[in-house]
Amino acid sequence: MSTGEALRLERLCKQYGSVRAVHEVSVQIEAGEFISFLGPSGSGKTTTLMMVAGFETPTAGQIFIGARPVTRLPVHRRNIGVVFQSYALFPHLSVLENVAFALKMRGVSGSELRAGVNESLSLVQLGGYEARMPHQLSGGQQQRVALARALVFRPGLVLLDEPLGALDKQLRENMQLELKRLQKSVGTTMVFVTHDQSEALTMSDRIVVMNEGKVEQIGTPEEIYETPRSRFVASFIGESNFLDARLIGKTDQGPLLDVAGLQVRATWQGFERQTGPVILMIRPEKIIPLAAGSRADNEFEGVVQEAVYRGHVVKYQIRLCAALPVLLTVAVAYRASTPRFQIGEKVKIGWDARDARLLSDEAKRPSQGVPDNDEALLRVTTAADRMAILPS
Ligand code: ADP
Ligand code: MG
Repeated sequence: MSTGEALRLERLCKQYGSVRAVHEVSVQIEAGEFISFLGPSGSGKTTTLMMVAGFETPTAGQIFIGARPVTRLPVHRRNIGVVFQSYALFPHLSVLENVAFALKMRGVSGSELRAGVNESLSLVQLGGYEARMPHQLSGGQQQRVALARALVFRPGLVLLDEPLGALDKQLRENMQLELKRLQKSVGTTMVFVTHDQSEALTMSDRIVVMNEGKVEQIGTPEEIYETPRSRFVASFIGESNFLDARLIGKTDQGPLLDVAGLQVRATWQGFERQTGPVILMIRPEKIIPLAAGSRADNEFEGVVQEAVYRGHVVKYQIRLCAALPVLLTVAVAYRASTPRFQIGEKVKIGWDARDARLLSDEAKRPSQGVPDNDEALLRVTTAADRMAILPS
């Protein structure tokens, strides 16, 4: 239906008085790519999108669509489709009129107009709904009309700002897959904003993680989840255990660490600096209970402090038998054959060196709070901590 266009942001900045909403954001987005801007509320996602659309003027920096510099072009000359939460359907116009509007604005009329609207509505599976008024549609259907309206003039680039935010979970997950399928079949480049990590992981070719107006990391969902470059990324996307660690030696396979008096084998993967204080990051599902006979690069004894049944996994808090108290969150997939640990039970757990990541300790941010004792220092970031980072 259309060909995707590349989008390049070069050191894009937006200052509102003393608020640095967006700071030096540089991203090269490929033609036909589905890219998400993911970050907590207030991290500058909407502002970035508004500058690309032309609704906001950058304080500094450049925007290119394909080879065209568009930084100073007005909205209507950028030829971008937008689906913004604040850009609702016209309530007094029918579905057909809502979608046709975007074409009429561009001087299209008659049979061409009708054909364009039909094609766009059938793309979002709303053929037959032409005469309905917006209030006669469900939330999901309204969002599909908004999408049809954004696609009808075949833009090479579509911007979507939390378009699924108002939908309930089931519908949102269906729409995520539908939207992604649609994007691949149409070929349009899509820039999608969300604060929902699972949404970004599900839909994106690549994710731009934003924090306080800046880009924290750009990568595929797998890169972002498996090899986060900072403590912020590791705790915003998924759940992580963070352990203060000290480099004490090297083996052929990788570094040797001291964690609270325990010797831990690790990997250099994703870690450039090989000196200085470090944090060892381990996802809860990479820590495994070791039944008799099974081995891991790192094996420890621990005592179960807490066990919570979560449906797909059982989550344990396990205190390692170390010089200092180290509390680990461990997520174990729940199967009938999996032994369930009891609180107070002594267990053997472990993880492979390749399943943990080293982070530079500078990544620790003041906003993460000052630990007031050793235990707090070694505590993991859990869902509760993440909620503190994610207002709303
Ligand atoms: P996000 O979409 O990631 O939640 P925004 O881009 O909306 O973040 O906001 C980034 C920062 O810029 C926030 O601190 C917000 O309060 C501020 N901001 C956004 N728009 C304006 C505005 N029009 N005037 C002043 N401050 C703004
Ligand atoms: Mg926003």
